[in-house]
Amino acid sequence: MRVLRQSMRGRVGAHDYPLEPEAAPAAFRGQVQLDPNRCRGDAACARVCPSGAITVEETSTGWIWQLDDSRCVFCGLCADACANRAVSLSNAFELAVRQPDDMVTRAEFIRNEETD
Ligand code: SF4
Repeated sequence: MRVLRQSMRGRVGAHDYPLEPEAAPAAFRGQVQLDPNRCRGDAACARVCPSGAITVEETSTGWIWQLDDSRCVFCGLCADACANRAVSLSNAFELAVRQPDDMVTRAEFIRNEETD
């Protein structure tokens, strides 16, 4: 009852979100992000992903890394598996899009024979 009275008098527990951005809590597991400068196409992220959200496809010149946000369960296994620290989970949580295709992130890589 005390909390109810407080909340009716003041603004206890009220937030202005979405008018005011709300910060994600520490250690929040949000949208997966790829650092293209670190990716070597090892595909460890794709192998451990339990929902098939990440795919890595070999091409004649390199590889294509793809993430489907609609399949991701934010478990973080991909980030743990990447020895190059190319994959991480950001604190982004506003992931709504208008078109299903917009949930797919695709990065195409050309293999550098000297470094990869
Ligand atoms: S966080 Fe989990 S479900 Fe999402 S892409 Fe990574 S391994 Fe797959």
